[in-house]
Amino acid sequence: MGDFSLALNEDQLQIQKWVHEFAERTIRPAAAEWDEREETPWPIIQEAAKIGLYGWESMAQFFADPTGLTLGIVNEELFWGDAGIALAILGTGLGVAGIMNNGTPEQIMTWIPQCFGTPEDVKLAAFCVTEPGAGSDVSSLRTRAKKDGDDWVLNGTKCFITNGGIADVHVVVATVDPSLGARGQASFVVPPGTPGLSMGKKEKKMGIRASHTAEVIFDDVRIPSACLLGGEEKLEARLARVREGGKTSSQAAMRTFEASRPIVGAQAIGIARAAYEFALDYAKERNQFGRAIIENQAIAFLLADMATEIDAARMLVYRALWLARNGEGYQNAEGSMSKLKAGRTAVWVTERAIQILGGYGYIRDFPVERWHRDAKIYDLFEGTEQIQQLVISRAISGVHIR
Ligand SMILES: Cc1cc2nc3c(=O)[nH]c(=O)nc-3n(C[C@H](O)[C@H](O)[C@H](O)COP(=O)(O)OP(=O)(O)OC[C@H]3O[C@@H](n4cnc5c(N)ncnc54)[C@H](O)[C@@H]3O)c2cc1C
Repeated sequence: MGDFSLALNEDQLQIQKWVHEFAERTIRPAAAEWDEREETPWPIIQEAAKIGLYGWESMAQFFADPTGLTLGIVNEELFWGDAGIALAILGTGLGVAGIMNNGTPEQIMTWIPQCFGTPEDVKLAAFCVTEPGAGSDVSSLRTRAKKDGDDWVLNGTKCFITNGGIADVHVVVATVDPSLGARGQASFVVPPGTPGLSMGKKEKKMGIRASHTAEVIFDDVRIPSACLLGGEEKLEARLARVREGGKTSSQAAMRTFEASRPIVGAQAIGIARAAYEFALDYAKERNQFGRAIIENQAIAFLLADMATEIDAARMLVYRALWLARNGEGYQNAEGSMSKLKAGRTAVWVTERAIQILGGYGYIRDFPVERWHRDAKIYDLFEGTEQIQQLVISRAISGVHIR
């Protein structure tokens, strides 16, 4: 007896330390500059590639951890450094997850290395689902994929795409049969340099400003049938089952989002931890009324709550990561629970950190206002707060809540 353990193993501790050092030495000092520039920090992505942190080999190593926790640990540390830069480095992971979850072994071997490039010539990947008329409602995608001879032809516009238009590999979810809603969708890889794919408007954002977000336009984008993830036979069989009224496994985009929710939660925890640690140090150093402000219960209890919320959120993330790898899937939407809690925690903790710093928290010379701007996205992307509540409430009740 006594098998239950929350201790990280030796490999995880080593990876955590290695990533933390990179976040502390390379990412943190560059954070304010790239936030102001609102540009992709290519030199830092290259640094990450040079030390082996950005690349398909390291991603494979992180994925291979039988506990499922390592990728979460890596994300928390990098995002502790800076969320915008970390997303510029790890945003490729979403495209990679789209390929891993839907592709054949051959497609995985072909495309995943191309998502990263080499340390001398780094590349990025993007995962394109959202459209102007289809955000939370992924079933109403209008980007169309039509078979034409041996090729597929894509037409449509995606918006808010991380690395959109600057990625080499774009993974696109499009509708093959609009009459089937989400069940009529499929994922495709658009290879580098394919004519007809272009970048539309680049968004100017509140936070995570070192991460590129843009529209992607598909204008008669012709790709070979080998770019349909999972292959034609599987798609045809799935569509036939749906048309006959049979059951199918969950839709393409949803499979990717389910897998990535606890990872996204780990990112939010990294931001929250950064703000909490900064506020704790500040509260010990800042004197008012002849004593450190932490000596007031109002401040000390706030810090106690911040630490508790962060640990609670991390426990949910670890549980979801472990279950995704070792359990029989989620029973009560544990992935959504972890992302919901972590996003809310990041927003709340970063806002309270501003409060602890007083006026200095509102000034750009201090990083806390940036952490708060960065944190808000965690209530929004990869499923908003309300969409996570919807998924959880349906899972716990069995009722089709709207
Ligand atoms: C910086 C950034 C990066 C992004 N990166 C990517 C990316 O790489 N790839 C990608 O495909 N997408 C990406 N997105 C898109 C993101 O996932 C969507 O913005 C998100 O899913 C919400 O969609 P929406 O913005 O259209 O909001 P809407 O769906 O219009 O929602 C508006 C509001 O209504 C609420 N709402 C909607 N439906 C319901 C309901 N049924 N019940 C209760 N409330 C509801 C929502 O919770 C929200 O509060 C990114 C977005 C941003 C801002």
